[in-house]
This record gives sequence, structure tokens and C-alpha cells, in this order.
Amino acid sequence: MSAVLEPIGHDAIRTTLRSAAIQRASASGGSLHHAWLFAGPAGVGKFATARWWAALLKCPEAGACDPPCHSCRLVEGSVHPDVYETGPAPDKRSVGIGESRALLQRLSLRPTTAGPRVAIVREASTMTVEAQNALLKLLEEPPGSAVIVLVTDNVGAMLTTVRSRCRHEPFGALSNEEVVQVLARLGRTEDDARAAAACARGSVARALSLDADGLAEREAVLLAFEQVGRGQRDVEDVVKILVDRKESGYALDDLLEWQLGKVEAALGHPHEEPSPLLSPLLAESAAGDHRALLTVAERIQRTIDALARNANAKLVIRDLLLNVRI
Ligand SMILES: [Zn+2]
Repeated sequence: MSAVLEPIGHDAIRTTLRSAAIQRASASGGSLHHAWLFAGPAGVGKFATARWWAALLKCPEAGACDPPCHSCRLVEGSVHPDVYETGPAPDKRSVGIGESRALLQRLSLRPTTAGPRVAIVREASTMTVEAQNALLKLLEEPPGSAVIVLVTDNVGAMLTTVRSRCRHEPFGALSNEEVVQVLARLGRTEDDARAAAACARGSVARALSLDADGLAEREAVLLAFEQVGRGQRDVEDVVKILVDRKESGYALDDLLEWQLGKVEAALGHPHEEPSPLLSPLLAESAAGDHRALLTVAERIQRTIDALARNANAKLVIRDLLLNVRI
């Protein structure tokens, strides 16, 4: 097995990439598209997939080496001379013209071993217009066999001229089970992994950002929400709890997004487990009437939007609580 672990999830994309690598390594040396765009939500494994693919493209056995070969170990350690990784510098928020030029220079060199030179650009949508324009020349006239992978969670911010020259691989959210598997790989216990995955909406990055305290906090707020829904708790009481938390820096919009995720899940998204809060709605929905669910989804989204615009938190939260009676 290659030293670069095969990513979890995104089966169709992995199949495409693996067959492209095997084909290229075959005796007939099939040609490979030179520019790829890995786009999708943050924290679902786009970069990990790009690095895994780079390992396959450079591996003498197209990733089937066992024990891991020298080439795969170099890619895994980010030190393979033919695999160049770049992105925003730690102290900067964008990829500038300097990084673009360094990338062009690296890709213009001959590969040191069999297989193409590969460049991976993290957070490619943060490339400045100059940096993207500098890349255009490369995308139009790729030097030799070079392959470039642009990784982004904000494809809309890329120049159309850049996007249109890339082969687009759209990444989706991971399933809950896949998030659990990734977290287990990272050493989380099964219980921790399941608790974090349930709130992660298919993103490992989001799951990792939730520590035990954050999860307990969410559970408490969610419980208050449900108690209001069942008429077991006074609305004003819960409005006060939520507004106080918001004022002390608690990310209320995150909580609401989490709720929205559950509604989406009930509407058929596979990456969340339904909340008990929604069971009456689910029953209606199973009977073919999705209107109530859609209304809840809409109201939660409206609240998120209002909070993002700095609307009066007390008013919009009270409005939500009064209207999401189930
Ligand atoms: Zn290998």
C-alpha cells in the first residue's frame, strides 16, 4: 500500500483519478489532462485526494507498492522533487504573483523520475488576479507532461478563463460514516468521532473544530430549542439564553446552521442524522407532505441571514422560536 493513504469518500472521483494514473503509467502511456480543479466544501479531503493522486502518478506501481516505495514516502513527506505544493503563505491570506511564478518555474523543469511533474495549489481561489493570469499561460501551453491541481472551496472566486481550462471534479460533503472513519484514522475514539461527526455536516474540518466543551454547549442549546418546541419551556427564557450566549461570543449562526443541516437531512441529504425535534415533521414528510419541513428550513435560513446582517439578535431569535413550534 502506498505511504499516502487513500482518502475516504468521493468514490467516483477516486476511480477516475486512479484509472487516469494507471492509464498514463501503462506501456502505451495514455495522455493525461494537464489542469484539474478539485472544488467542493472545506474539509472534505480535496487536498488529501490531490496528494494521494500525485503519489499514484509518481509511484512506479501506480500506488500498488507494498511496502511503500521511496517515491510514495517522499510525496507523503511533501518532499518529492517532482511534486510541488503551494498555497497562501502562513502570514498571508492570498496566493500572489510570486507563488505563481515559482510554480511555473518548478513545472518547467524536467521530471527527475518517471511520471509527470505535479503542482497542487491549496486555496486556489485566494490567488490574486495577477497570480491567476500568470497561470493562464501554463494552462494554455502546459510545459511537457506537467499536471496542475487547483484545490478550492470557493470556485466562484476563480477567473472564468482559468476555470474553463480545467477539468472540474466536484467534491461533495462526506457521509457521517465517512467523517467517523476519517476521525478514527486521526486517532479519535469511536464515541468522540460519532459525536463530532453528527454535528459536522460532512466536513472533517468542522468536526475537528468541535471540542468536547463545544459539543456539550451545542447539546444544551439544542435541548432548550426542543423544549420550547414541545411547549415545555418559556420562549423568553430561551431567547435570553441564546442572546446571552451570542453576546459572549458563542457562534449562534453555527448552531442554526447545524439545525438547518438536520432539516436538510430530513429532506433527503444523507450526511446527517435526523433530530428528535423533527420527528413529527418527518412523519408528515413520509406521508408525502414536505411543506412543513421546507418552512422550518426556510425560517432557519432566514434567521442565519438576518444574524449575518447584524439584525437585532433578540428579535430574530424570538421570531424563530415562536414560529418553529412543532
Ligand atoms: Zn509507491
